[in-house]
Amino acid sequence: MGNVDVPAIESVVVEPDYCPRCRTEVETNEFEGREVPWCPDCDLLFSRHAVAAVQVIVRDGDRVLLLDEPLPQNEGVLSLPGGFAKYDEGPREALVRELEEETGLVADPADLEYLTTYHADAGIYFLTYTLERSATAGELTPEFEEGEAAFRPVEDVLSTTDRTRESDRERIEMAWNRRAE
Ligand SMILES: [Zn+2]
Repeated sequence: MGNVDVPAIESVVVEPDYCPRCRTEVETNEFEGREVPWCPDCDLLFSRHAVAAVQVIVRDGDRVLLLDEPLPQNEGVLSLPGGFAKYDEGPREALVRELEEETGLVADPADLEYLTTYHADAGIYFLTYTLERSATAGELTPEFEEGEAAFRPVEDVLSTTDRTRESDRERIEMAWNRRAE
């Protein structure tokens, strides 16, 4: 995500006339330069995404890039870089943009290798890619002053279960297994 002040967004296939949660008639609000349906009662945006979400596993030898971000949804949990694709943005372009925003690393969309798609709660699909650190430029610079973007030993990440999500560990393991093939 590009901003600490992230509005509540529900990813929808068809933009609704009525809020699917509370049935209030939707109004519109600006989101990323477009007027999108918005429920004034729930303060919830309904944004149609060509691709709901993207994440990347950046590998540097035996280490993986994880973020420690001061965001409510990531409190105390290390997370993979990524975020939501904008309305007219492809997944690779979205990921390269998010990676630079969140970590300072600059990458070429063509160097991203598709790994898998993770279906999370709330109907969000995370297209997950891998990327080699050696294919990137730039210095690691966390997006938030109180945050951290760092390469951590994969062995430690996979054997410590209290600081990462199971779904992230599964995909990190998948990325390493694939490289060993
Ligand atoms: Zn509502």
